[in-house]
Amino acid sequence: RIVYVNGEFVPEEDAKISVFDRGFLFADGVYEVTSVLDGKLVDFPGHMTRLGRSLSELQMDTPVSQEEMEAIHRRLIADNDLVEGMIYLQVTRGAADRDFAFPKDTKPSLVLFTQARDLVNAPAAATGLKIAFVDDIRWGRRDIKTVQLLAPSLCKMAAKALGCDDAWMVEDGHITEGTSNNAYIVTKDGAIVTRNLSNSILHGITRAAVLQLAAEAQIRVEERAFTPDEARDAQEAFVTAASSFVMPVVEVDGVTLGNGKPGPIAKRLRELYVAQARAAAI
Ligand code: PLP
Repeated sequence: RIVYVNGEFVPEEDAKISVFDRGFLFADGVYEVTSVLDGKLVDFPGHMTRLGRSLSELQMDTPVSQEEMEAIHRRLIADNDLVEGMIYLQVTRGAADRDFAFPKDTKPSLVLFTQARDLVNAPAAATGLKIAFVDDIRWGRRDIKTVQLLAPSLCKMAAKALGCDDAWMVEDGHITEGTSNNAYIVTKDGAIVTRNLSNSILHGITRAAVLQLAAEAQIRVEERAFTPDEARDAQEAFVTAASSFVMPVVEVDGVTLGNGKPGPIAKRLRELYVAQARAAAI
């Protein structure tokens, strides 16, 4: 695999980052994941806008221009013959002598790599996910897409230990989101409920696109926090993320939803999203 690191395209085994990089020592960095369909970038402007916001919230410089960022993505798609999958992008504050206070003039490190994966024909889309509820132990700025992912990793491992595929994290009696996706339930009267945007969750790029598609399909949407009880009582459920599009959920906290198969609204939104993503990919 050819990866990008600080201006160079190199085989992955030749890519190097300083041990003093603050990404390594402090998880002082941000990332984005953009999906690729038919060799083209999905929702790319949205991901780049959110990257800019994450960087500015952490007082970090943008490492390269927008045009260069897009050119790097395209070159990695070409060099790796990527037809379907993801491009991971990470910006860290760069190398500095280890100190909690960071110098203002570090040179940010930029790393990108590709991951080939079947996104449209993902096996989990046919069966649906089983979700466990786990305490949300993350920090207070989940709207910034930082690389400090140990808390959600532990939450996901706790869910796996319970025989589930993923966790929905719970704080103050309400679901925040999945470990790497936004969470939705469909009520018995057919409304989609998903948590409103705040610092408590990541502002998903796929979330924005899917809520738009739901509105166009005249499905009622309520953006508000919902409880584990409401989730257990839901007709169906699903999650969204760049790497999974719309993924049905068939079980929460040991309770089977509907008939235990992916629900009609989740299936329909997945089809609508895939069609829209394909058509709009650049
Ligand atoms: N929430 C969290 C915590 C995530 O890590 C992610 C994606 O990685 C999402 C939500 C979904 O965001 P997006 O649709 O932009 O991929």
